[in-house]
Amino acid sequence: MAAKAKKVTPLMQQYNKIKAKYPDALLLFRVGDFYETFGEDAVRTARILNIVLTNRNNGGERTELAGFPHHSLNTYLPKLVKAGERVAICDQLEDPKQTKTIVKRGVTELITPGVALNDEVLQSKSNNFLAALSVQRQSYGVSFLDISTGEFLVSEGSKEEVDKLLQNFNPSELLVRRSDKKTLASEFPYDLPFFHLEDWVFQIDYAQESLLKHFKVKSLKGFGVEQMDQALIAAGAVLHYLEETQHDKVDHIVNISRVEDEHYVWMDRFTVRNLELYTPLSQGAVTLIDIIDKTTTAMGGRLMKRWMAFPLKDPIQICKRHDVVSYFVSEREVRESIMSQLKQMSDLERLISKVAVGKICPREVIQLKNSLEAIVPVKQQAETANDRSLKSMGERLNACQHLIDLIKQAIDEEAPVNILKGNTIAQGYHNELDELRGLATSGKEYLDQMLQRHCDETGIGSLKISSNNVFGYYIEVRNTHKDKVPESWIRKQTLVNAERYITEELKEYEAKILGAEERIQSLQQELFDQVVQEIMPYIKTIQENAQLIGQLDCLISFAEQATISRYVRPEIMEDEVLEINGGRHPVIEKMLPADEPFIPNDLHLDRDEQQIIMITGPNMSGKSAILRQTALIVLLAQMGSFVPAERVRMGVVDKIFTRVGASDNISQGESTFMTEMNESASILNNISARSLVLLDEIGRGTSTYDGISIAWAITEYLHEHPSHPKTLFATHYHELNEMTNQFDRIKNFNVEVKELKDKVLFMRKLVSGGSHHSFGIHVAKMAGMPQQVISKARKMLKRLEQTHRQEDSQEAMRSLQEEEMQLSFFNLDDPLLEEIKDEILMVDIDTLTPVEALMKLNEIKRMLVGKAGKAQ
Ligand code: ADP
Repeated sequence: MAAKAKKVTPLMQQYNKIKAKYPDALLLFRVGDFYETFGEDAVRTARILNIVLTNRNNGGERTELAGFPHHSLNTYLPKLVKAGERVAICDQLEDPKQTKTIVKRGVTELITPGVALNDEVLQSKSNNFLAALSVQRQSYGVSFLDISTGEFLVSEGSKEEVDKLLQNFNPSELLVRRSDKKTLASEFPYDLPFFHLEDWVFQIDYAQESLLKHFKVKSLKGFGVEQMDQALIAAGAVLHYLEETQHDKVDHIVNISRVEDEHYVWMDRFTVRNLELYTPLSQGAVTLIDIIDKTTTAMGGRLMKRWMAFPLKDPIQICKRHDVVSYFVSEREVRESIMSQLKQMSDLERLISKVAVGKICPREVIQLKNSLEAIVPVKQQAETANDRSLKSMGERLNACQHLIDLIKQAIDEEAPVNILKGNTIAQGYHNELDELRGLATSGKEYLDQMLQRHCDETGIGSLKISSNNVFGYYIEVRNTHKDKVPESWIRKQTLVNAERYITEELKEYEAKILGAEERIQSLQQELFDQVVQEIMPYIKTIQENAQLIGQLDCLISFAEQATISRYVRPEIMEDEVLEINGGRHPVIEKMLPADEPFIPNDLHLDRDEQQIIMITGPNMSGKSAILRQTALIVLLAQMGSFVPAERVRMGVVDKIFTRVGASDNISQGESTFMTEMNESASILNNISARSLVLLDEIGRGTSTYDGISIAWAITEYLHEHPSHPKTLFATHYHELNEMTNQFDRIKNFNVEVKELKDKVLFMRKLVSGGSHHSFGIHVAKMAGMPQQVISKARKMLKRLEQTHRQEDSQEAMRSLQEEEMQLSFFNLDDPLLEEIKDEILMVDIDTLTPVEALMKLNEIKRMLVGKAGKAQ
């Protein structure tokens, strides 16, 4: 008895077998018109989709069950994938009517967060990358694939470099070696699904073989990636994963290329985050991309983000972009005309990917054609433009006229989304199809005539001829006229108010029509598939078009933004100066209330005289705004955009670092003083001569003296570093103003405030000179603190100032500095030390290579050892 109760139904046997192959995926199992989930899958599905969870006795064991109608797949699938689920779709592989036994089923697609083609899962202006990471002996390889656009990129380098790329590409899923999963998850603590593959997948031989096979080549030399073992292993893992997820038609992945990191401005992830480039620091905050992105196409939108993540370093490339923007700023009509064409374009890049994977629908083929048609005038205008880069872009655009003609002839302008629901193939494209359609429409007339005839014969005015899936065609008679029905009619169905009949004539008609309709459907499918096949050879050309359109869109967007928001062209120079006149913060200037004007500021930095600016001023005076606007102006300029200022002259920057003192972020529970120090340490180890360093209230996360000391030491280090990186340091520790007296290239500035009787007026102007005291209490007062608190704070401050007089602390710093100087030149009357001192002073640190430095050190050491030897 017990054994019998446990017997599993054949359907569940089939389910269990398939599920065993996809243990990590949520299996949607098609049963009739429903997708069902069972057990643990059902519990998760019900929770994510907020649908009913039931229990069913499936031939013995009770199991949880949740399901939804198959036609709701497009609504529910994205929700599951966005919740981080990997979803295996198991379909019926044969027509249930054709089989007496259990229907054959199999997984037709595995959709995961990183491998999605579904429009509902994807965001049009964002890429959706799948990434893989491979590590061996401190060498990190990474690959990124967006299957929806066909982009496949790799890189290799240190942990920091890979970390930065992960931040830039923001993948939706990360593949790692099973045995590395734990370590990597702690090294890269991101909020993204890590998925492990078996260790054997991560092997160079296997990777090379898969890549050669995929690209149908004998060597990877042509792609310039053949030496990068870890990167290739990561790329191999991605290809393996595509196979595992049943994505076998991927002809649109035509290239694999290296992310040429050295060509772009280095910004680590703290910087990208602090500058709020494309992810807001707090919910609802406005980012730079929100303000400057005026692109019209999806390709442009995605590229704009890429340009922001990878600003250029090469002045020639930067100026080429500025030239085009300049052209579009002055030629308003051309700009507007091209923009109106861009508006007609669909997402060419994703449409062509759908062609490759065999998922394009008839309406999308029409969209593809319309987009190509819109290229024609764009090409013509770009080609005749008075700018070399733009001309060359125009020449490279290819409207694929032959393909436009083909689609025009073959596909109906009003083609439906679902090929079964309307006319996909155009009239006049195929003779047999036209004849069959004639039959079907004349059949409609025939039915109308038949109805009229029956009405006349029976005298029933309200007769109706319709059809349904169960009985096919029938004649419907209301109960009131039942007695007038001729005997020859055969009753098929009784409803509450009516009866339904069939006749011999109707049956014959039905056979003919249904035959024609079935044939129409299969013929349409066949012809449509042929058209899709004919589009295939255009994949690469259309991808190139998509890229060019994306570039044009971005450059036009820059011109639009420049016109709307009064941006100017930055002058890119050879030297390492940064000179901003009337600079503005691109985001804050848009967010201020209408009656509050943004106050522009001037700023000058160089490596020889004004290398470090110490900006003091009370809280909320606008220090951070100045820091950030400086970085954003540089970044916009090197993306190729115009900038929010009256005039900017600058040498290219190769690295931008920003760090914010701990308490700014503490509300997000992510930053402690330790992180602040970690983040700052990584700057000090990476600075270069063209770096721009922005330190905002560094040292604030600890006690005052602790904080001042650290801030002092960091600034001194930056000053003394042979690279002389340009630095802005915002602080409310006015004690740091003392530094300018001891370090030549440190200059004091403050954000001006006017002290009225009982309040502080923020002038937002950066002016030369330090500020003399903090304004914490004024700010507290403005914030509405009770009067009692304010007056107590005032008394406390007075007391503290009396005990630790400001001059004392400044004196202390000065004397420490002097002490250090003395220490370093101890006993200078010793002739040998005198000699060593000369030796050191003669060294030109700016031109000294690390090896030369070591040799010099060795020389000095030998001098000292020699002396010690003599003394002994
Ligand atoms: P701080 O870093 O000194 O605490 P912020 O830079 O955060 O101050 O500026 C505080 C606020 O002042 C900003 O959110 C902005 O609304 C306003 N603000 C800053 N700079 C300007 C400016 N130049 N013109 C107008 N308003 C500004």
